[in-house]
Amino acid sequence: MSDALILLGPPGSGKGTQAVLLAERLGIPHISTGDILREHVAARTELGRRVEAIMSAGQLVPDELVNTIVEERLSRPDCEGGCILDGYPRTVAQAERLAEVLARRGLRPVIVNLAVDYNVIVTRITARRQCPVCGASYNLITNPPREDERCDRDGAALAARQDDSEEVVRRRLEAYERQTLPLIEYYRQIGVVFHDVPGDRGAPEQIAGRILELLGKG
Ligand code: AMP
Repeated sequence: MSDALILLGPPGSGKGTQAVLLAERLGIPHISTGDILREHVAARTELGRRVEAIMSAGQLVPDELVNTIVEERLSRPDCEGGCILDGYPRTVAQAERLAEVLARRGLRPVIVNLAVDYNVIVTRITARRQCPVCGASYNLITNPPREDERCDRDGAALAARQDDSEEVVRRRLEAYERQTLPLIEYYRQIGVVFHDVPGDRGAPEQIAGRILELLGKG
C-alpha cells in the first residue's frame, strides 16, 4: 500500500518547501490546493473568479470546491505510488471526505505535523517570495536566492504572494486556529500514523531529512 503524506501546520510552517523537497526525494507528485487555486485565479477561470476574493481575504474556500479538485487530482495514474498533500485537508469535513477517497484508491494516510512558533510566522511569511515563471519558492531570510530577489533557475524578478501581507497573514492564522487545528485532534483520535516535526529548527533540507527518517526512508 502506498502512502498519501499529509502535511499539516499553520501558514508559514514550511509545508510547501517540504512538499517540494520530499516529492523530489520520494519521486511522487506534490499536490498543493493553494497552487492549484492560484493557477485558476491567474487564468481567470470560472472557479478562479469565484475564489479570488475569498483567498485575498485570507479565508478558506468552500469545502466542496477543494474536495472536487483533490478527488480529480488523486484519480490520475501518477498518484498510484503515493502523493504529498500540501494545504489539504484544512477542515474536518475535508479530512472525512479525503479518508473515503484514499480508502477507495488504496492509499494510506500518513500525517506530518510541522510545528512552528507563532511569533516567527509573520516575520517568516512576509519574507516569502515566489518566481512568477517557474513557481520556485524562496524566503529572503531563511532561503534567499543567489541574486537579489531574482529566481536562481530563470532569473525572473521574484514576487510576494498577494495574501502574504501582515494583515492577511493574521487572518489566515485565525482561520487555521478555528478551522484547521481541530484536525490534529481528529487525526489523533482516529489513530492514523502521525509524526510531529519541528518546522523551525534547521535548514529546509535538514527538516526534510528528519521527515524521511521518520518515514523510514532516510
Ligand atoms: P496555501 O497556499 O496553502 O496557503 O493556500 C492559499 C489559500 O488558498 C488559502 O488561504 C485558502 O484561501 C485557499 N486554500 C488552499 N487550500 C485550501 C483548502 N484545503 N481549503 C480551503 N481553502 C484552501
